[in-house]
Amino acid sequence: MLRGLQAMAVGVLLGLMLPGGAVWAAGAKTPAPQKTPRQAPEMEPEVRTFILGNTLFTLYHEVGHALIHELQLPVLGREEDAVDNLASLLMVPEEDDPEMLEMVMAAAQGWLMSAAAGDDEEELAFWDEHGLDMQRFYSVVCMLYGSDPDRFSAFADDAELPDYRRDSCPQEFDQVSTSWATLLDPHLLEDGGRKSRVKVVYEPPAPAYRTLSAMLKQSRMVERLADDIRTSFVLPRELTLRVAACDEANAYYDPEDSSVTLCYELLEEYETLIRADLEAAE
Ligand SMILES: [Zn+2]
Repeated sequence: MLRGLQAMAVGVLLGLMLPGGAVWAAGAKTPAPQKTPRQAPEMEPEVRTFILGNTLFTLYHEVGHALIHELQLPVLGREEDAVDNLASLLMVPEEDDPEMLEMVMAAAQGWLMSAAAGDDEEELAFWDEHGLDMQRFYSVVCMLYGSDPDRFSAFADDAELPDYRRDSCPQEFDQVSTSWATLLDPHLLEDGGRKSRVKVVYEPPAPAYRTLSAMLKQSRMVERLADDIRTSFVLPRELTLRVAACDEANAYYDPEDSSVTLCYELLEEYETLIRADLEAAE
């Protein structure tokens, strides 16, 4: 389902993306016996895919911040752009991974919807440390297109990615993947090396978030990400991946205690966005 961080870093260093998705996909194909939440949440597939696709992008983005700070990686340019690029890179689907393809498209669509929703209420936030939503949309599209122009040309057409930007996407993709792989390489866990400590914590959800929480747990996305980090990198201290209520729709890395928090409110915001979109399409 998802490509391992280490597979990405190693694959890129070798000048190719590894087929089969190594670490992560192997785990996905032979899932360990797992406790799934008792009442399987009823959620339409397109709603679920949208929420999970956007959540994965967000998690990779925040894990990117965590890697930069925990491993003291240098960053040239805006850190927000660097970690967005990492998220896009990690979500480039293998040929035989339609699920990841849907998820990365959902993540791109999420930026588009978020931009459209913001148009009505807010001025464009030029002061923000993040790129504007539309820029973040085109950045995901460009990374995807740049990874394989033939394969994603129809997607770039749909997204109306202009030719002049399209021309530079393969080079942008190469530059981003080589830069990340080079920075991560000294921190990769060697075979037989001691795994890093990564803890997953779900704070009990308020009743309103129970379905979302159960759906996320059932996907095992956070657990698999934790496993991927454990077996890919040598981290200097324990990292916590936490799903919690925060009183705002957000996700963040906290260097104080080396934790990444994904807020239930953000999952809810993704659900609201996709439901509004589906309703408008009816
Ligand atoms: Zn960020």
